[in-house]
Amino acid sequence: MNNDQTCDLLVHNAYVISVDAERRVFSPGAVAVRGTRVAAVGPEREVIEGLGRRAARTIDARGAAVHPGFIDAHNHVVGAGCRGIFANEADDPASGVNYATWKADVTSEDEAAATTLTALQLLHAGYTGVVEAGTAFDTGATADAAEAAGIRICLSEPYLWDDVTVMRQLASLESRALFARAPPDFERCVAELGGELHRNEDPDGRQHGFLCLYGLGTASDELVRRADALAREHGVVLHQHEAYEIASARAETGRLGHSRIAHLDSLGVLHAGSTLVHMNTLTDEDVDIVSERGCSVVWCPIPHLAMGLAGKVECRMPELLRRGVNVTLGSDSARSSAFGDEALAAQLVAANAGEPLAPETILEMLTINAARAAGLGELTGSLEPGKRADFVVTDPDAPEAFPAANPVHQAVLTCRGQAHARAVVVNGEVVIDEGRSTRLDEREACAAARASVRERIRRLNLSDAMKWPVIGE
Ligand SMILES: [Zn+2]
Repeated sequence: MNNDQTCDLLVHNAYVISVDAERRVFSPGAVAVRGTRVAAVGPEREVIEGLGRRAARTIDARGAAVHPGFIDAHNHVVGAGCRGIFANEADDPASGVNYATWKADVTSEDEAAATTLTALQLLHAGYTGVVEAGTAFDTGATADAAEAAGIRICLSEPYLWDDVTVMRQLASLESRALFARAPPDFERCVAELGGELHRNEDPDGRQHGFLCLYGLGTASDELVRRADALAREHGVVLHQHEAYEIASARAETGRLGHSRIAHLDSLGVLHAGSTLVHMNTLTDEDVDIVSERGCSVVWCPIPHLAMGLAGKVECRMPELLRRGVNVTLGSDSARSSAFGDEALAAQLVAANAGEPLAPETILEMLTINAARAAGLGELTGSLEPGKRADFVVTDPDAPEAFPAANPVHQAVLTCRGQAHARAVVVNGEVVIDEGRSTRLDEREACAAARASVRERIRRLNLSDAMKWPVIGE
């Protein structure tokens, strides 16, 4: 750092977990921020001596861990509103309304409210970025809501599919209302593909565009080839759900004569820019293909458990990690959990598969691996000079942070949800300060989300989810 340059923010007296190439930890360490980027990171004395003038703002981390922000590598923001209304993967049979119909009913205002709620929960839990996985109809409203909360967001066009036959296997995800709103049609998809890539034009922005097909067998080979070619041309990832659960995977294997992963490989569309989500039902051949092609895998361990897959399929994630595959974690939305719980779920599923994940591995999955799976590996995911300043100052006072023996362990496994972040910096800006949003009135934002969901319950004539009699209403 040149001595004549000021620094906008200095975080010092920290246990800095850089997740750089050598996985260096600095204690006492410091991070200096200029504009949207990390200006310096290293031992506290070196960073402070490098500063010409005092920083405009200084945060004393009081010895707490500072780590690169987590990225939720697969999230459907529309899921934020149906907590306690739909169970994770099963529908309320009495209502006759399933999750897909809920997704189809959403308005722009609902999407904004759900995005705000998702963003606030993620930021508090130590996330600085989220990938909205091709289910937001009003991407403008979603982007604006994410921007207002201050979180980094990746967006793509919603529901790109041209053959939804396989969705018959997925009762909660099939809905006439959803197919009416997002018609399975090749020409529509080709016209919409790439519609969010303009977001990549701002070199300092916190909104990014990528490509997403719904996956699972809902795209024709020609649509998959077009999307892959466009993704390669623009240097963005192509993100698809695959190998989600047993019935749809079996149906596709029957139709194709081999697994969908083998089929995608035969089309030549699996490579380092391919991000495959879920990947719960993998064959030995699939594991070989994904390892050899260098794809990214986003595993969502909570849906894995909620669908009852733990006893039915072999979890291949520890093996994929061992073989050098870029495996990361996604929430898929936190309908019966809180953001941050994915790490614990992953740890427990892997332990039951006979290979527990080290906390260090989980931290890599949530940061550097997630950034790469989102196509943001050059920008974020580690604390290194020149990268965007996306990081978290953890809360040293949370009871969950004690006995304070292993900062990496507590960062990924015990300090989840609201117990995680004291301050969150996204794109160089402090967006959570002393545990509160600097950009939004959180109470107002939560009230707006509640009003949106109440109106949706009324509109969809959803039955009351409460099983016990409520006296006094
Ligand atoms: Zn999903």
